[in-house]
Amino acid sequence: CMREAYAHEKNLGFTRQAPDLRHIVIVGGSGQMGQLFGRMLRLSGYDVHSLDRDDWDRADELLSDAGMVLVSVPIQDTVSVIERLPTLPDDCLLVDLTSTKAGPMAAMLAAHPGPVLGLHPMFGPDVDNLAKQVVAYVPGRDPEASTWLLEQIRLWGARLHQVSAADHDHAMGLIQAQRHFATFADGLHLIREDRSLDELLALSSPIYRLELIMIGRLFGQNPELYADIIMSSPDNLALIERYHDRFAEALEILRAGDREAFIARFREIGEWFGPHAGRFRAESQSLLAHADAQR
Ligand code: NAD
Repeated sequence: CMREAYAHEKNLGFTRQAPDLRHIVIVGGSGQMGQLFGRMLRLSGYDVHSLDRDDWDRADELLSDAGMVLVSVPIQDTVSVIERLPTLPDDCLLVDLTSTKAGPMAAMLAAHPGPVLGLHPMFGPDVDNLAKQVVAYVPGRDPEASTWLLEQIRLWGARLHQVSAADHDHAMGLIQAQRHFATFADGLHLIREDRSLDELLALSSPIYRLELIMIGRLFGQNPELYADIIMSSPDNLALIERYHDRFAEALEILRAGDREAFIARFREIGEWFGPHAGRFRAESQSLLAHADAQR
């Protein structure tokens, strides 16, 4: 199986795609994603150093001859850390892993006249390997200088998807910030209604259990991470405000008891989803069958 093949390769290492690259510095290399990328890059034969919070007195020494600098610090510190970087070699590739792209891309392009690439790994630090994971990338400057890195990531098993910074941030707002915020509001609603969760689960057939799982799983994770994802940009607030307006619009249909309007909107949304609506239904059914067998 493909996953096993990658797990195996992980132990052996990967072919190095840039044989002549000078050393790599990961700013925030002791963090979760910094460690993951450090491990993958070392397994691919690169010389990787970390510059973390307390290492700035060594910044010049570490960075003055770097072949690549990878910024992987908390979202809210990213722009200031990029601005704080000393002058990098002209040919040094400056890359970041930030979950938002517009701010970090602008900061990297302003801070460094050489090659720039934005990455956003669409997974957390707890993955075993990168097989089938998605990495979004935003070309910054001199794309040829980062071809090797994209090839390297492909070799790790990930699927790459090119996107502009603005499109990335809007899509992430919808996929992550607004979804997570709606889940946060669902959680708030549940605690205010305060029914026994055990009773709710006892009354839930598999699909409803899955719906509860999708809410509850959020609250087993790091609240700081979700605060950052949701609050990382003012665009997210604007997006969530539009969501709030649409909730009010939907509620108005309910208040008016307008069954016909509800059905008309329902059909309209179904048309927007098109053939995916049926596909999603089939996919969720097979997920449920699988989940049920696992329990
Ligand atoms: P983390 O908190 O685990 O690691 C951040 C690291 O940066 C820490 O080691 C910290 O000491 C260091 N750091 C903080 N300020 C610094 C400074 N001024 N100078 C140098 N180092 C400093 O965070 P993480 O989860 O690894 O996230 C890092 C980046 O990866 C973020 O941009 C985040 O958006 C992105 N990302 C995270 C995930 C995820 O699920 N964790 C997923 C995709 C992308």
